[in-house]
Amino acid sequence: MSTISLNEVCMRTLGLENPWSMASYEKIGGYKIWRKIVTEKTPPEQIIEQLKLANLRGRGGAGFPTGLKWSFMSRNTPGQKYVVCNSDEGEPGTFKDRDILRFNPHQVIEGMAIAGYVMGATIGYNYLRGEFIEPFERCEQALNEARAAGLIGKNILGTDLNFELHHFLGAGAYICGEETALLESLEGKKGFPRFKPPFPANYGLYGRPTNINNTESYASVPVILQKGGQWFLDLGVPNNGGTKIFCISGHVNKPGNYEIPLGTPFKTLLEMAGGVRGGKQLKAVIPGGSSVPILPGATMMQLNMDYDSISKAGSMLGSGGVICMDENTDMVKVLERIAYFYYEESCGQCTPCREGTGWLMRTIKRIVSGKGQMRDLELLISVSDNIMGRTICALGDAAAMPVLSFIKHFRSEFEAYIQNG
Ligand code: SF4
Repeated sequence: MSTISLNEVCMRTLGLENPWSMASYEKIGGYKIWRKIVTEKTPPEQIIEQLKLANLRGRGGAGFPTGLKWSFMSRNTPGQKYVVCNSDEGEPGTFKDRDILRFNPHQVIEGMAIAGYVMGATIGYNYLRGEFIEPFERCEQALNEARAAGLIGKNILGTDLNFELHHFLGAGAYICGEETALLESLEGKKGFPRFKPPFPANYGLYGRPTNINNTESYASVPVILQKGGQWFLDLGVPNNGGTKIFCISGHVNKPGNYEIPLGTPFKTLLEMAGGVRGGKQLKAVIPGGSSVPILPGATMMQLNMDYDSISKAGSMLGSGGVICMDENTDMVKVLERIAYFYYEESCGQCTPCREGTGWLMRTIKRIVSGKGQMRDLELLISVSDNIMGRTICALGDAAAMPVLSFIKHFRSEFEAYIQNG
């Protein structure tokens, strides 16, 4: 079933040595589709059609259909165009891209080369999170191998096609995972998110048309084209094609990355992760990284892991970072930790986020310290409402949504702190 997570377990199953090497990747059909595209000059529209059929939704968090995104950038626009990979994986609870880059870097390279071909971009950048030293080295090694084999660079496989790829290591700012902040950072500037529109497809890196996708999205492309969009679609459920890697962490027995078909019941994922630690009850789950609303454990046990099911229940699948909390978890302290994170990571460009994240953090800290008042709960809700939808980038919403959902589902715990000092 595994399509993208060539981790150590898959490596053993497939009998592969060093799965990150080109030899291993080619043993499982790697670069076959890229060779075919280059030599047969496959019409780009055909590739986009397959991606649309596959219903590959962006794996970085937004879930935007990849085929549609690729169709926005016209191959025929004159001048330089770029493809960029967002490997600045910083969302708390998310650790899948790191493993893709460590164990399967060639699949990302192949996916990016195909994207470059489809959109007529001859230069690509993969922006890796600053702490990803080992993944960076693996990616560089893989790129050297692909270049030596004539698959990347000038005159690919003796044709007139060119595609050069560069790896770029960030400096550790969470906000650079926002795509326009990432572009600013790539240009050598402070990672400040840009106003949108214009969107990167029109005005991206150095003001040129640019396509940005997440690591897992690019890594999914070669296998979709090899086996067909319908095959990928059928792995999942309608409107949620394929498999997805979920990073399950928190109070479970076997935290880790699990690649499962979209639409798999959460219950099954929890069982794969060995269930709740110590046989305790599941109290709550953050289903898609710390930015998305929390859901009670009982609700999660009824849900399937796909974009639509989680969204109908009032949260988001996001990046697939599933944080599980058992019955002993202090929800007020969890929120205090999350609020502090967003306060620290706000870039400070817009007032509601810059000031609001500070207010949220200080108010929750006051409640934790025993000096809170009942009106603080209304203050938290009001500040959150005033941040939502009023900022340049999604970090504002990401700071507000956890606060609103924690108070909605676990209000009595906040009240207990306030009443009992
Ligand atoms: Fe910066 Fe926050 Fe505004 Fe985003 S929402 S641009 S992080 S201040």
